[in-house]
Amino acid sequence: MAQQYPEWIWQNGHIKPWAEATTHVMSHALHYGSSVFEGIRSYATPDGAAIFRLTDHLNRLFLSAKIYDMQLPHSFEELAAACREVIRKNGLGASYLRPVAYRGLGGFGLSAETPIEVAVAAWPMGPYLGPEALQNGIDACVSSWQRFAPNTIPAGAKAGGNYLSGQLIAREARRLGFGEGIALASSGLLSEGAGENLFLVFDGVLHTTPASASILAGITRDTLKTLAREDGIEVVERDIPREYLYLADEVLMCGTAAEITPIRSVDGKQVGAGKAGRVTLRLQELFFGLFDGRTHDKWGWLEQV
Ligand code: PMP
Repeated sequence: MAQQYPEWIWQNGHIKPWAEATTHVMSHALHYGSSVFEGIRSYATPDGAAIFRLTDHLNRLFLSAKIYDMQLPHSFEELAAACREVIRKNGLGASYLRPVAYRGLGGFGLSAETPIEVAVAAWPMGPYLGPEALQNGIDACVSSWQRFAPNTIPAGAKAGGNYLSGQLIAREARRLGFGEGIALASSGLLSEGAGENLFLVFDGVLHTTPASASILAGITRDTLKTLAREDGIEVVERDIPREYLYLADEVLMCGTAAEITPIRSVDGKQVGAGKAGRVTLRLQELFFGLFDGRTHDKWGWLEQV
């Protein structure tokens, strides 16, 4: 089936019909990966559509832009308003939001000071790794591709070019029949999934890989750390060897798109009982509870549209 697009999109300060949000083929970003972006979800809550941690996502967009010397031509407030506008104008409830800022047409040199263009799109989105994934988990594999080393491309920036790595990891996994790929860092220790952070559970304690393991320190990762600690579950950030994936009681992936996806096997070896374990189920309950009112949002993470 052909992709269905929403009617409206925001670009360079204006809401416009989807088809009119065009850019030049010689835009810098298209050739060199010079874009920074965010992936944000909105949820249909009892109080109407709410954008989850919009402020934190937009702050990360500005930090990613700073790393690449991109001066965004719009303020935080303008971009926050644009995010709300694309949801409202398209009549969306639960959806995925994609703000992107990129180097446009204005020079072909690598360090060219091109104009910075900005767009915000939103479209309806269900579970990213398939509807079954959240409940039954997925089979993952360790990728033959490593993440880029910390002194090559900064993993802490959510930049378009980084996703060449993610594409190699995700495409290889799918080609081999797995639901998702997990990458090692250049150290040989665990890094993260193609587009998700990793948590392992040992004896009821959550272990996640540190910022130094070439990860994007996800906002969902931070959400789970906070919800877990609040619930009395210990969380540690530490270097994790690959084989711990096979030894853990539970493994899960998390991200805005993947939400909380249990991993039932890695490299064909069953993880724990081969289904979502106790800690994963508790985190899912707490996380999804934010959107139907079962978990009190004392952090102000739900930002009303
Ligand atoms: N790592 C990578 C490489 C990602 O692309 C994402 C998705 N943005 C994540 C981790 C998870 O980040 P977040 O929870 O902020 O979506």
